[in-house]
Order: sequence, then C-alpha cells, then structure tokens
Amino acid sequence: MKVAIIGAGLAGTAAAWALRQAGAEPVIYEAGPEIAPGASGNPVGLYNPRLSAERSFYSDAFPLALKAFEQLRDTDWNECGALHLITDDKRQKKFADAVKSWGWPRGEMRIVNKAEASEIAGVNVHYDALYLARSGVISPKKLCRSYATAVPVKLNTLITNLNEVQADAIIVAAGMATKSLPLKAVRGQITFVQSTAASERLKCNLCYGGYFSPAKRSEHALGATFQRWLDHDQIIGDDDYDNIAKLVRVAPELAEGLEITGQRAAVRTTPPDHFPVIGHLRDNIYVSAGHGSHGIVSSIAAAQILTNMILERPLPFPAQAIQKVSPQRFNQ
Ligand SMILES: Cc1cc2nc3c(=O)[nH]c(=O)nc-3n(C[C@H](O)[C@H](O)[C@H](O)COP(=O)(O)OP(=O)(O)OC[C@H]3O[C@@H](n4cnc5c(N)ncnc54)[C@H](O)[C@@H]3O)c2cc1C
Repeated sequence: MKVAIIGAGLAGTAAAWALRQAGAEPVIYEAGPEIAPGASGNPVGLYNPRLSAERSFYSDAFPLALKAFEQLRDTDWNECGALHLITDDKRQKKFADAVKSWGWPRGEMRIVNKAEASEIAGVNVHYDALYLARSGVISPKKLCRSYATAVPVKLNTLITNLNEVQADAIIVAAGMATKSLPLKAVRGQITFVQSTAASERLKCNLCYGGYFSPAKRSEHALGATFQRWLDHDQIIGDDDYDNIAKLVRVAPELAEGLEITGQRAAVRTTPPDHFPVIGHLRDNIYVSAGHGSHGIVSSIAAAQILTNMILERPLPFPAQAIQKVSPQRFNQ
C-alpha cells in the first residue's frame, strides 16, 4: 500500500514511521528544504500529556509516545520527569482530579509537596506540584529525522493539488497549510539561556504556564510565548524577556544571572477545542493536524490511529477518544 504524506513535521514523519512499521510504503512530500522546517524544527521540546481533569485522548496517547521513543535513536530523549507547579487553585483542582480519573500508577503521576518537589528537582521549589515521572525532553527536530529514517522524503516539493498525487492513500500533515479545517495560528518563541551554578542543579522540567528544562551542554530551554494574534516566525526581542519573566515569578533564584544565547520562533496550529484533528477527510484522504503545543505526544498517537484506519485494522484508542479528535466533529 503506497501512502503519500504531505509535510515532514512531527505529524508527517511520525505517520511515515508508523506506516513503515506496519508494512506500508510511505513517501513524504515537504515544501521546505529540509525535514521539520516549521513548528517541528525546535532543537528542544518538552513532552507532556495535555493535562485535564477527566481522562482524555492525551492520557491514552502518552504511553504510545514513550513506546515509540524507546525504539528510536539519536533523538536526545531524556526522561527527566516534570513538575507542574500548583500556582493557583484552578491548577490544584485540575491536577487533583486528573490524578484520580487518569488512574496512572503513583510512581508515574502524583501530587508532591514543596519539600518532595525540591528533592526531585535538585533545587528549591516554592510550590506543591503534580509530578509526572515519565515526562521529559526530546529534540523534535531529531525526532522527525529519526522517524523519517529509511523513508523517501521529497524536499522542496510544494503540493498544490492533491489530485496530482499518485497513492492509495494520502495523509495531509501540512500544519497551518491544512485546508478546510478551523485551525488557528498561534505564534511562539523559545529562548535558550546559558546555565549558572545554581541552575545547573535542576534535574527535571519545571512547568508553570512557561517551562524551564535541565541544562544540556550548559544551556537551558526556556519557553514559550503564545501569541494568537501573530502568524509569523520572526524573532521578537521582548519574547525572550517574557519567557525569563515567567521563570522569575516562580523561581527567582534560578533566573538570576541567566544570559540569553539564542531563540527560535515558529507557528503552532490549534483548533478551537484544543484537540488535534486526526482521521478521514474524504475519498482516500486523511488528516493529522492541529497538534497545538503538545505535538510531540499527539503526533505519534495520530500516526498509529491513521495507520490502522488506512490498513483497516482495529483502532488503538477507545471510540470516544477517536470521535473527540475526528475532523467530522466540526460538521456537527
Ligand atoms: C515555540 C514553540 C514551542 C513548542 N514547544 C513544544 C513542546 O515543548 N512540546 C510539544 O509537544 N510541542 C511543542 N510545540 C508544538 C509542536 O512543535 C507542534 O505541535 C508540532 O510541531 C506540529 O507538527 P506538524 O507536523 O503538525 O506541523 P509542522 O511542523 O508545521 O509541519 C508541517 C509541514 O508541512 C509542510 N507543508 C505545508 N504545506 C505543504 C504543502 N502544500 N506541500 C508540502 N509540504 C507542506 C511545512 O513546510 C511543514 O514542514 C511548540 C511549538 C512552538 C511554535
């Protein structure tokens, strides 16, 4: 079975990997000059499920992502864990409800007090937190390259008409260019900073609306801005200071003396209900888009769902979760 995939970001390359593993023959068409030229090209990303009080698509997607990472090479994967700081009552209730309803083992997901959070983090933490032991960091850019190993990728190939693509099935994984869906652009910028003696001690991700990851080769990733009103990938100087200011609010001693070493901006693609769009569009055309700010996890789950849909195998998710992400939900 020949499957054409439009877009070599996380959505497209993950789909290619899953299809190839299942015995299909994927080919990727990418408009840009390299794999992951868009949102998926960040050198560092945090992988987390999108947290919600009720069990959701993301609670089922997260273990699939871990399984994939275990099989891939050269991705800079570091399962360092993540502390989601409880900075207000809303987060406290949501996290407590999630612990109850998701039913994950205590070793993988639990509320910790400040003292335990500090022990886990290796630095002073000023808030109780939701601890996700199996979250961590990975390089999205390298992940895309690893997914695409041994898959033909036609670079500099802008597909303007799907009728001209010869394949048994087509997956549109074109980010913001995915037509006919109510997707919104949300620009974002991550900032890289040189570590200090104090920040070098951080052992896990701190998440607080923004995020701060442990140093790798003396550099931290600090993210990210969210601008629903912008759709360009130019660098904005003030964004770096916004990212640092968020860290100052929750961990001032970690933010002290950090020097900016670089930054990267790109555009996320987000549907109004913040769930990705995964499923059958029409004829032999399928879609994986709208991965918002959790694309590392949702793209591999999308890849498994679409692979099984195309090959007419049982779907790896409960029917309710499939409906939640289906493109048909916008027609109701
Ligand atoms: C600043 C920032 C920080 C982020 N941090 C995280 C994080 O820490 N953790 C996380 O999980 N997620 C994060 N995300 C979100 C994540 O990057 C996205 O969810 C993910 O990259 C989306 O992947 P995609 O393949 O759908 O889109 P893209 O990466 O945009 O890929 C779409 C591809 O399609 C190609 N294309 C478009 N049109 C055509 C066409 N007609 N023909 C051929 N090719 C075409 C494009 O060139 C592009 O390469 C972040 C995003 C940003 C912007």
